[in-house]
Amino acid sequence: MSTRSYQQFIGGRFVDGSGSGSIERRSPATGDLVARYCDGTPEDVDLAVEAARIAFEEGPWPRMSGMERAEVLNRLADLMRTNRDRLVRIEVEEVGKPVRFARGDIDGAAGLTRYAASLAMQMAGLTYTNIGEGKTALISREAVGVVALVTPWNFPALILSQKVPFALAAGCTVVLKPSEFTSGSAFEIAALAAEAGVPAGAFNVVSGYGATVGDHLTGHAGIDFVSFTGSTRTGSRVVGNTSRHLVKSSVELGGKSANIVFADADLEAAADGALMGVFFNNGECCVSGSRLFVQSSIADDFIAKVVARSRKMKVGDPFDDDTDVGALIDHNHLAKVTGFVRSGIEEGAQLVLGGNVATGTVGHFHEATIFDRVEPHMTIFREEIFGPVLSITRFDTVDDAVRLANDTAYGLSNYIWSKNIDTVLTVAKRLKSGWVQANTIIDGAPQLPLTGVKGSGFGYEMGQAGFEEFTQLKTLLIQTGPRAPVFPV
Ligand code: NAD
Repeated sequence: MSTRSYQQFIGGRFVDGSGSGSIERRSPATGDLVARYCDGTPEDVDLAVEAARIAFEEGPWPRMSGMERAEVLNRLADLMRTNRDRLVRIEVEEVGKPVRFARGDIDGAAGLTRYAASLAMQMAGLTYTNIGEGKTALISREAVGVVALVTPWNFPALILSQKVPFALAAGCTVVLKPSEFTSGSAFEIAALAAEAGVPAGAFNVVSGYGATVGDHLTGHAGIDFVSFTGSTRTGSRVVGNTSRHLVKSSVELGGKSANIVFADADLEAAADGALMGVFFNNGECCVSGSRLFVQSSIADDFIAKVVARSRKMKVGDPFDDDTDVGALIDHNHLAKVTGFVRSGIEEGAQLVLGGNVATGTVGHFHEATIFDRVEPHMTIFREEIFGPVLSITRFDTVDDAVRLANDTAYGLSNYIWSKNIDTVLTVAKRLKSGWVQANTIIDGAPQLPLTGVKGSGFGYEMGQAGFEEFTQLKTLLIQTGPRAPVFPV
């Protein structure tokens, strides 16, 4: 397999970065060198912001009709589908995620792009004619301008597609900084966007490290809006950067979601949901249901069922269709996950499955791991582990379940399993998170907005609300006919 090398994508073409360094990406599963990206510089960012600014102020993209922008975005979605195999391979090689989940990511990315295309035609405002004699007000929705988008490594193509097509649909122009671990699909999709008809400068990609490229981009005076997805720690730094120029931002951050199983649930479905909650995407998922709460009356049997099924999780080659858990993103992250597992043992949680690094391979694999009897003071209850490690806590009453679920610094998502609609609705109302799902997990559709509360951030991604983040309202008040003087002569 040949190594892919990417230049920066600025002003509609691939150009050399201004620095001489490069970032080498090795497959986390095999150690093979799979890609090289430019180690971007602040100068690269300046060039990309300038290209996006010119495209916004003078270029055709913001001036095209919604229908024309929708046609281009639909062509991009088509191209993502026809290039699906290549994009899937890049995601598997660079992220280490199982191939069947990577296929879902690319299909999801194309679906998001198609949905964003439909929104390009729905960008409407409001008119008031009942606000006084001779007065008309037109409230129009405009593109916010040049936007900076920063994405993490766990769903490179998918999270890019939660942002880029929505920004483009609104008529914004974009500078995207993908994660330094997984930049390949961003460059591929930018090239496909150009092929689909996105004009030069409307969609720029600059690779590089967060401390150089990310920091400079999110604090850049030439940016009108920042949409960031990543860790809570980086997100709070990004908000500091944007505040210097009073730039609006949306930050989608970490999570520590509760997956609550009541005794009256469909326990087969809930057991599958427990596995999905923690092993999907290697557990490297912001909306993982990594804290499983089980009602005491069914706990022993239900936990035995979850452990028995988890024992069958196949950890290994992410290109194997049967693999359930692939390789973690890099050795530092693997060390972080093993540190959390060690803390779980030392702090007295009961290890009931796994607990070790998978041996006999150069890759960064970790066994499917489950702790029972986890208590709120333990590190594994509180910290986002971002690996295939499940924490189980037992509860007695609805009040206990809600108190435990809300006992976290995060507020991204929560899950409820119950056949009782009263339980579902009352618990959902009391959970402090932007997203709640009942009798399903890590589910969704492009129409449904994602947002966090507390340490999980603010702002919306996807849905009409996610689209509107890339817009702003302008109020035009017009007086026709005579205006009563305020200072009569
Ligand atoms: P990260 O915060 O380390 O990096 C995210 C991005 O920010 C990367 O592109 C990185 O280069 C960049 N960055 C780093 N320092 C920066 C700085 N000073 N200024 C600007 N940009 C900077 O996160 P990660 O490890 O890539 O991703 C995992 C985290 O992302 C987890 O916490 C996960 O929960 C979160 N996440 C959240 C969502 C969501 O929708 N809420 C989705 C996916 C991932």
